[in-house]
Amino acid sequence: MNELRVVGAANIVAVCYLCNVAGEELRCECACLGTGNGYVHYLCLKASATAANASWVEGDGIDSFISPWKVCGLCHNNYGSRFAMTMAVHFVRSVQENFRPVTDNWKQIESKYYMMSVQLSLQHRMSDWQKDNVMKNANLIMCLIKHEGGSRLTLTSRRWKSIVSNCFQARGVIMLMCGGPESVNNALHEFSMQRSMAASNNDQTGVMRAHRLIEYLEDDFRAGEDLEDYAFQLTLVD
Ligand SMILES: [Zn+2]
Ligand SMILES: [Zn+2]
Repeated sequence: MNELRVVGAANIVAVCYLCNVAGEELRCECACLGTGNGYVHYLCLKASATAANASWVEGDGIDSFISPWKVCGLCHNNYGSRFAMTMAVHFVRSVQENFRPVTDNWKQIESKYYMMSVQLSLQHRMSDWQKDNVMKNANLIMCLIKHEGGSRLTLTSRRWKSIVSNCFQARGVIMLMCGGPESVNNALHEFSMQRSMAASNNDQTGVMRAHRLIEYLEDDFRAGEDLEDYAFQLTLVD
């Protein structure tokens, strides 16, 4: 592979900044500039983030645990949102495989990333596996919160209520995207749960957002319309 390395301005070949090897599957998903800068193999990135997590201690703070999955190690900018969603999914998997989320801190780490994948999903059309993942993550957040009676993660906290409210929105949108005869009714149910949760949180912006989603669905929907396309339009309502 030596002949593929960066040898000079006239003949620059991108190489992975972690393993120094070129390859077709190299990606550059951040703000790194210049040919050859910021290119990385996804597998190298994953291995490096997992290794960083293994040496992490709770005193370092949650953000430093998450950043290897979210922020480029070279330019320190967040990854672009599609790639960030992929990384979020693999982060959650890595936490489940390698680190048992037994303390509140771990649960917050886990749910923060579930939520990240849910929120990012609302900005993009998704492939089928991404829809499955986002739905799964939205449900996991709700389970996580439901089983946390008595601890700091209970629904009495404003932050958690707003997370659940967002989960209802994501579930509604994905139900529309998946289509089927009950999609519209199911989505309406999710959006009204979203509205109630926002209302109980005194979150007027959240109430209005849910309200507009409901109105849009009730007033504008025409039978036979492509639900996936429609769901995507709904996410742009804000
Ligand atoms: Zn590499
Ligand atoms: Zn970068």
